[in-house]
Amino acid sequence: MSSWGCGMLPSTPPRSGGGRRRVGTPIAVDQVLSVNDWMTASAAAIEAEADHLTQLDSAIGDGDHGINMTRGMRAVTAALAEGDAGAPPGQQLILAGKTLVSTVGGASGPLWGSALRRGGRALGEAPELDGTGLVEVLSAALAAVQELGAAVPGDKTMVDALGPAVTALRERLDAGDALDAALSAAVDAAEAGARATTPMQARKGRASYLGERSVGHQDPGATSTALILRALSGALVPAG
Ligand code: ADP
Ligand code: MG
Repeated sequence: MSSWGCGMLPSTPPRSGGGRRRVGTPIAVDQVLSVNDWMTASAAAIEAEADHLTQLDSAIGDGDHGINMTRGMRAVTAALAEGDAGAPPGQQLILAGKTLVSTVGGASGPLWGSALRRGGRALGEAPELDGTGLVEVLSAALAAVQELGAAVPGDKTMVDALGPAVTALRERLDAGDALDAALSAAVDAAEAGARATTPMQARKGRASYLGERSVGHQDPGATSTALILRALSGALVPAG
């Protein structure tokens, strides 16, 4: 006789949506993310911290990061407001990404723009952005940033905030955490990652021109990335 005994079937649900209930069985705790709310909350957070971001960029760059990101995120919220509110989240992310690329001159525009576009493409026509979808979006976003900017962890860039956030989100969702709890772990990881850039020497972007003088300052792009990820917590809406 099997040592598992009778009735000892594994209680964990299938991992990739195979067992997901769709019709007639609403689950009150199910939450998904609104791209529109995410971008609106990101724009507000970036704008509130614009001076700080600019200060950080003045120390190791050219002092335009707060202005760049504010201009870009304002344009994104305007584009989404004008666009089709019922468009699938992937399409909305692609629109957000294209808007950032076309409105932000600094490195952060093409980088975050490609990140959101690639994230949107990864989502395809999925009708909702759930936890699994968000892992796909953020993994694709990270890959796009690294492809375009060639930065690796430890180079003192936005990768140092985005990378740990993606890892934490994936791990916590795999461990069975609800989306809000997993998100909060991801935000903690992004903020810790941004703080950890302070002692690093920049090896990519404008800050790398400073060599050792870039040490001792928090990276502006990693800081704004943590703000954008924190904004996800304000974008949770009931599924369906
Ligand atoms: P610029 O450097 O062109 O003035 P911003 O000031 O808007 O652009 O953005 C600077 C931020 O962009 C940096 O703090 C860093 O996080 C990010 N960054 C710059 N170059 C790279 C790169 N090659 N890979 C990843 N991130 C980068
Ligand atoms: Mg700059």
